[in-house]
Amino acid sequence: MRRPVIAGNWKMYKTLADTRAFFSAFTPLVATAKHCDIVIAPPFTAVPTAVEAAKNSNIAIAGQNVSWSKEGAFTGEVSAPMLAEAGCRYVIIGHSERRQLFRETDDNVAKKSLMALESALIPIVCLGETGEDRDAGLTEEVLRRQFNGGPGALTHEEFSRILIAYEPVWAIGTGRTATPEIAAEAHRFLRRCAGEKFSVRHASALRILYGGSVKPDNIKGLMAQEELDGALVGGASLDAKSFAAIVNFT
Ligand code: PEP
Repeated sequence: MRRPVIAGNWKMYKTLADTRAFFSAFTPLVATAKHCDIVIAPPFTAVPTAVEAAKNSNIAIAGQNVSWSKEGAFTGEVSAPMLAEAGCRYVIIGHSERRQLFRETDDNVAKKSLMALESALIPIVCLGETGEDRDAGLTEEVLRRQFNGGPGALTHEEFSRILIAYEPVWAIGTGRTATPEIAAEAHRFLRRCAGEKFSVRHASALRILYGGSVKPDNIKGLMAQEELDGALVGGASLDAKSFAAIVNFT
């Protein structure tokens, strides 16, 4: 039985005051949730405030990105030891916005995942095809390439400590959610890639989250698919009530 994970990605939203207000409203709404792991990824500046606000709760904090280097002359980057020291337990790696706007490659994703694991952070490795890829019938080819170049480059032991988020780019921030069946099909394919690269045991233990316009009104249908082990939520995680409704999907 794979334990679900519901993670919120705030992207470049929320000041420190917004962060405090969110946690005051959100924490009581999910205080009794025992059925899943709850993760929130605020912007770097709000990480310490979020960690403080989530203390003694069932909510873990994530970074939205991490450097592939431990330290050095990398202006604007944040390292895995820094995130861990600040109280993060997870980190999002290879989000499509990083791949598309900041030219992150599969090799970057593999290196960043290694760094995160060295600092005992749990990587949430994102991958997914664009609308053009899907229309051209290239979904599986793209997913396999991203899988093999990123998480597939890890050792068996390292791979057993990561989460994957299937995020079709055409569904992110567009309001166009993948149907539960489309999402499940992609998850099944990714699990097959994991089985081929690692082992059936690794594949069946792997938790794969779905991301792309997840909302309170579609989470139940998505989570009814046995293949879906949770969600990575962007826009709907910014509002305490709507993210709590997603967390409390059961
Ligand atoms: C995301 O940012 O990972 C995401 C899935 O965004 P949204 O839920 O807004 O589509």
